[in-house]
Amino acid sequence: MKTDFLVIGASITGINVARELKQRFPDAAVALIDKENGCARHSSGRNNGVLDAGFSWSADSLKARFCKEGNQQLTRYCESKKIPVNKCGELVIARDGDELSALDELQRRADGNGVKLEQVTARQATEIEPRAKVHEHALFSPTTASVDPVTVMQRMEQDARDAGVKFYYETSFLRKAGDEFVTTLGTVQADYVVNCAGLYADQIAQEFGFAEGYRLLPLKHNYLESSEVPGAFRTHITAAADLSGSYPGVHIVLGVDGKAKLGPAVKPALWREQYHGADGFHPFEMSSVVTTGIGQMFQGGREICKACLQRFTGSAQSRLITAGNRLVEGIRLSDYRDWVRPEIQPQLVNTETHRMVSDFIIEGDAKSMHVLNTVSPVFTCSMPLAKYVCEQIAAATGK
Ligand SMILES: Cc1cc2nc3c(=O)[nH]c(=O)nc-3n(C[C@H](O)[C@H](O)[C@H](O)COP(=O)(O)OP(=O)(O)OC[C@H]3O[C@@H](n4cnc5c(N)ncnc54)[C@H](O)[C@@H]3O)c2cc1C
Repeated sequence: MKTDFLVIGASITGINVARELKQRFPDAAVALIDKENGCARHSSGRNNGVLDAGFSWSADSLKARFCKEGNQQLTRYCESKKIPVNKCGELVIARDGDELSALDELQRRADGNGVKLEQVTARQATEIEPRAKVHEHALFSPTTASVDPVTVMQRMEQDARDAGVKFYYETSFLRKAGDEFVTTLGTVQADYVVNCAGLYADQIAQEFGFAEGYRLLPLKHNYLESSEVPGAFRTHITAAADLSGSYPGVHIVLGVDGKAKLGPAVKPALWREQYHGADGFHPFEMSSVVTTGIGQMFQGGREICKACLQRFTGSAQSRLITAGNRLVEGIRLSDYRDWVRPEIQPQLVNTETHRMVSDFIIEGDAKSMHVLNTVSPVFTCSMPLAKYVCEQIAAATGK
């Protein structure tokens, strides 16, 4: 196969990059490969579908830069395609007096990012969400929303096809061989490679000499599905103290259908796609995760250790129920029995600082570009992120 651009990963990042490339370079051939038999088989089809408002990231991050615009663009995209959007908003609370300062910090970040975040009294908060346990006052984000990620992905895939992107499923990128690229479909000649391979993006980047300072710690996220009727909650509910840290804590999230989920319980996966038990057992990856990822975790001392151990020990159902009951009234074990499909984040750890990387990382040159650490909220950020990636490609190639 010969192509101008070879994009790896038929998912929210890869499909948006491919669409953007086609828009920027209409005469160029854009081929998109994925090892699975359809789009969005990993994070992009398994996530919560929350359109994040963009108030929790500090202004100097790529996440802050793309989240507000991504939320607006994806909302408009869905509306234009008649894809349902649940505009339920998000209530951010303090669980006690010690957490009130976290509300102030989020308000500062929202102001810095130009994101609308309303101060509400305890009374107004309980009018928004009668079951919320509000301490003194709270914040309400009117633009946080939910969509069905699979529906969005299917539509975006169709749009990309209509724009002329060629899809090749069941085609794995294997390695770089000089100026050519070896895939399970055969050798590909491509002028430019864009790596949007999610859980494998770091490995592929390393083939090209990038992502050298990072190791992957795949983190598995599990949520409990509520059997309460849709509408039992009116809005997403989060604790401010959990949002102002580097990793979200237990929260209540609503689907596009109004059904609630409680989570996440987070623990390291032993290999990159270890969704259930021994499925896809990969001994090489396991030893790599154990020796690098978990090894990094302990070398990294407190921060990583504490984050992982807290989440590891927080994985039991009853612990999630206890955490949920600190946010809202009436979370009963009998209503939260079933786990939804787990998702695994491609969390990178910096090998020098031994810290978990918070922001997205884009590395590349005149031959290839690599989109790394595509953790939450990449789904929300995907459209402006893809535009930015293509700008980097244009700058690197002088096109
Ligand atoms: C529990 C959880 C909930 C989340 N909820 C939200 C949310 O509500 N809102 C939000 O904005 N974000 C959310 N996120 C984050 C979001 O889901 C991800 O950041 C995003 O989907 C990542 O997309 P991606 O395209 O980078 O990677 P992926 O969706 O993982 O796609 C990578 C693709 O690359 C392919 N691939 C990998 N290796 C190869 C290879 N060698 N050859 C060919 N193909 C390959 C894979 O098959 C896959 O299709 C959540 C994350 C988690 C963990």
